[in-house]
Amino acid sequence: MAVGFYNFAKLHDSEFQTEILERFKEIVTGNAFVEGKWNTAFETEFAQMQKAKHCLLVANGTDSLEICLQALDMQPGDKVAMPGISFYATAEVVINRGGIPVFVDVNPTTGLMDLDSFKRVIKQHKIKFVMPVHIYGLPVDIEGLEVICKENKIQIIEDAAQGQGGYLKNAPIGGSGHLTSFSFYPTKNLGAFGDAGAILTNDDDLATMIKSIRNHGRSPNGHTVVGRNSRCDHLQAAVLHLKLKKTPEQNKMRKDIAKKYLEILGNLPIRLVPQEYVNTSSWHLFPIGLRSKDEKYALKEHLGKLNIGSSLFYEKALPEEKTLLKCEGEKTHALDFAAKTLCIPMNPFLSENEIMEVSQAIKSFIK
Ligand SMILES: *Cc1c(COP(=O)(O)O)cnc(C)c1O
Repeated sequence: MAVGFYNFAKLHDSEFQTEILERFKEIVTGNAFVEGKWNTAFETEFAQMQKAKHCLLVANGTDSLEICLQALDMQPGDKVAMPGISFYATAEVVINRGGIPVFVDVNPTTGLMDLDSFKRVIKQHKIKFVMPVHIYGLPVDIEGLEVICKENKIQIIEDAAQGQGGYLKNAPIGGSGHLTSFSFYPTKNLGAFGDAGAILTNDDDLATMIKSIRNHGRSPNGHTVVGRNSRCDHLQAAVLHLKLKKTPEQNKMRKDIAKKYLEILGNLPIRLVPQEYVNTSSWHLFPIGLRSKDEKYALKEHLGKLNIGSSLFYEKALPEEKTLLKCEGEKTHALDFAAKTLCIPMNPFLSENEIMEVSQAIKSFIK
């Protein structure tokens, strides 16, 4: 039996298809293609769900990060700290705005930005912004980060592209009050039928600025800042709004699957997400750490032969990417983490049998 990494057939089942096609028909006959009623409905409901005051839909999760930097008035030459384990976009947006990424090392067990490394990095570099990443869905210790950032006048932008459904100490991811960036790429916990993203904020002025930037810098007085076109299509907003009501249940299904994996794989000599994250991770992905790079590739091949999906998130740490080789900072654990990490199937629809099959395949290989 093949076990897919994702399961779009079940996510977009016939009931969902019927409902979304009705919405699409209404949009097509109404000629309401951008910023329509579903945009407003989604923004209102998503902000409520994540406990933020404002939600601003944008074209994708990369634009959303870049727009956050612009809204906070990042200038060319500014240094932006970020963990060595993330998707490339986190660093890319800084470079596209003329900034300088500086790497912070990660916790060797979780891949999350390590706050002691961050403290060392800010002694060496004049850091203006930090972009913590809720990688794999695990929440960064935002409260701990806030203390350091307050003392050093550093502004926080959260990359929550993988964090939808996860929890901070006092709020859902997105509810911290800092600018928080989400991606709704189809494979994320909440996914569109293509590209979309959103920014959450509690600040009225920042919300107004972001609304303007995403729509060519428009304001009631004309074009008052140099913005861009990063509007979210009405079709995508209709998909996101329809999916929103099922997302909490699907995130709970992810958690139950993660619990089962952790139970079955708990005795193996592999690195797993620590138990303390069971209830706070969004379980966007299920990363495991092997003992060596060779063992990782060998397991990937073994699973492939059994038709079990797996993915290398991330094959390289950010500091190893060609365009980022010259960036400074700390990276020892990030390199080791990337070398040994493999993600195994994780989606809300994995059956008991599929979980057993994946787990058995790993067990028989590691022994
Ligand atoms: C997916 C992702 C992004 C980029 O989002 P897009 O919508 O694909 O542009 C940024 N950061 C992280 C951590 C991601 O996983």
